[in-house]
Amino acid sequence: MGRLLLLKCFRKDIANLPENRYNKICENENKERQKMKIIMLGAPGAGKGTQAKMIAEQYKIPHVSTGDIFRANIKNGTELGKEAKQYMDQGLLVPDELTVKILLDRVAQDDCRGGYVLDGFPRTIPQAEVLDSALEKLGEKIDYAVDVDVPDENIVKRMSGRRACLKCGATYHIEHIPPKQEGVCDSCGSELVLRDDDRPETVQNRLKVYHDQTQPLIAYYTEKGILRTVDGTMDMQDVFRAITDILG
Ligand SMILES: [Zn+2]
Repeated sequence: MGRLLLLKCFRKDIANLPENRYNKICENENKERQKMKIIMLGAPGAGKGTQAKMIAEQYKIPHVSTGDIFRANIKNGTELGKEAKQYMDQGLLVPDELTVKILLDRVAQDDCRGGYVLDGFPRTIPQAEVLDSALEKLGEKIDYAVDVDVPDENIVKRMSGRRACLKCGATYHIEHIPPKQEGVCDSCGSELVLRDDDRPETVQNRLKVYHDQTQPLIAYYTEKGILRTVDGTMDMQDVFRAITDILG
């Protein structure tokens, strides 16, 4: 419905309506559109990045990854980028307030008027609180926190099945995307390896950090009434279908 109204608002007949009716329609449209500010939650390897991209495409809203906007700000030498770089150059964590500033600067752009899907932020309760209070000042709020739920053992299994070609960068999975010949890259014929990042002990460490720091956000957003959980053990397309059922 929101999409339909959006289209209508650009129609001449609507634009020529008396101002009060035009405003009414646009007001409804804005109400609908504001319901698309989404946060993605889920353990590393749960597939939330993939789902975030699919959501962005389906609902025509930007996929806002904090990693990407940091890089863009630094590359373009913006004031915020320079500020962030000072911390990073010293090996320090960028303060949450600054990260949120950079984020708000991004979501204030025109393409985010219909909403956005945040990927990679917030990762901690303090970050979520800074984000919420900053949005509140703008009269905005997050509408959905989508948790892609996958048990640790599934994630470890998924990751340990990955194989990578260090020569050409191609990636495989021994179960889901096997190479034609075991252990050999289809594209360049080099040997395939299990990357250190995908080793069970590395994955377990990342999961521990997730449980300690990020998982508390599930209770946080449950309390706010916006948490929606999907079973992330399903096939990628089925996970996405579950998400679109929720988002409408
Ligand atoms: Zn290769």
